[in-house]
Amino acid sequence: MSSPIIVTIDGPAGTGKSSAASRLADLLGFDMLDTGAMYRAVALLAVEQGIDPHHEAELAVAMDRATLDVDFSCRPPIIRLDHRDVRNRIRDSDVTRIVSLIASHHEVRVRLVKAQRLVALQHERLVTEGRDQGSVVFPDATVRVWLDARPEVRAHRRTEELRARGQQVDEKRVLDEIVERDASDRGRAEGPLRQPIGAAVIDTSDLTFEAVVGELERLVRAKLHDANVECGCGGSA
Ligand code: C5P
Repeated sequence: MSSPIIVTIDGPAGTGKSSAASRLADLLGFDMLDTGAMYRAVALLAVEQGIDPHHEAELAVAMDRATLDVDFSCRPPIIRLDHRDVRNRIRDSDVTRIVSLIASHHEVRVRLVKAQRLVALQHERLVTEGRDQGSVVFPDATVRVWLDARPEVRAHRRTEELRARGQQVDEKRVLDEIVERDASDRGRAEGPLRQPIGAAVIDTSDLTFEAVVGELERLVRAKLHDANVECGCGGSA
């Protein structure tokens, strides 16, 4: 049996992790996990049930009652909360505003980290992206990548993304929110946003999307080649 291959991509908000991870997974024929979507789904759960996002114990109870799953039959996979497709709803500003606070709770992280490790057991060729994938969840991942970009660049990208979805947004406000969310993600005690030891670093500020994906693919294939790991993912590893 071939050994599992996990590629982790971590970094702050707006570095293009989800899109790059999704494209990389397609190129390699791997599955892709967007762990931010899982935290966002828990934030949505709090919004829908009127739970105070500071209230960790209540959130834990609600999580244990809810069904949160990722439908891998679609590419990219779809996040479902209680069997509903919530992939668009979780990007709304009421969810984004509280997600970092929600993600700071131990009881929330324990449950989602467990769910993420379970996904990795079931999907042995996986690109997973988030904030703590290479540092906490999969510290022994085959390839660990840290994506970064200047805050202004990240805010600009996020603004364009939201406008493309028909939302009216002010770029300065998006920048303030990104800086605030990063500070909160970096400062928390559990699973803080942190560059994993030994991670390959890519600053995407001045790179096109295709260049970022190309660099990711090159990195993964080189790592697999050096480690003499059979990828089964086309091209020359
Ligand atoms: O990547 P995205 O912006 O969707 O992530 C939303 C939030 O989820 C992040 O700001 C962070 O607070 C949280 N998150 C996390 N750990 C992860 C992924 C996301 O704490 N692995």
